[in-house]
Amino acid sequence: MPANPLSELSPAWCRECGAEVERDALDCPACAAPRPSQTDWAGEGFEYRSTREFRGWPLVHIAFGIDRSGRIRTAKGIVAVGQRAVGGVAVGILALGFISCGVISAGVVSFGIVAVALAVACGVNAIAPVALGVVAVGFAVGGLHPIGWKVILSGAADLR
Ligand SMILES: [Zn+2]
Repeated sequence: MPANPLSELSPAWCRECGAEVERDALDCPACAAPRPSQTDWAGEGFEYRSTREFRGWPLVHIAFGIDRSGRIRTAKGIVAVGQRAVGGVAVGILALGFISCGVISAGVVSFGIVAVALAVACGVNAIAPVALGVVAVGFAVGGLHPIGWKVILSGAADLR
C-alpha cells in the first residue's frame, strides 16, 4: 500500500490543548482528548436534549457515548436516559432520580440489579424501607433473602 507522504509529514495539533500530535492519533498524549487532530470532532455516541425545559432542566435528555473531551456523557433531565442518568425519571447503567431504573440505581423509588431507595426498592439487591428483591434489606421486605423488621413476602419458608 503506497504511503501518503503529506499526511505523514504534515503536523497536527491537539484541538483541546494545542500539543503536537500524530495525525491519526486516537488520544492526545498530553491531555488524553480523543481524536485530537480532528478539529470538528464532537464526540461519539448519541445525544438528544429537548428544547423545552423546566427549571433549567430539559424535559428529556438522552445521552450515550463520550463527549469531545473524552468524558462519558451524563444524561440530566426531567426524564434522563443514558449510561449515567440523573433526573426525575432516570434510566441508565448508573441511575439517580426520583424514580430510577438502572444496573445501579438510587432514588426515592428504584429498580435495578443494585437498587437503593428512600421509599421503595425493587431489584436483585434491594435496600429501602420497602424492599423487594432476591436480597432485600429494609423495614418491610420481600424476597428470597429478606432481611428486615417485617417480612411481607419470603421465598424461603424457614426464615423469620
Ligand atoms: Zn491535548
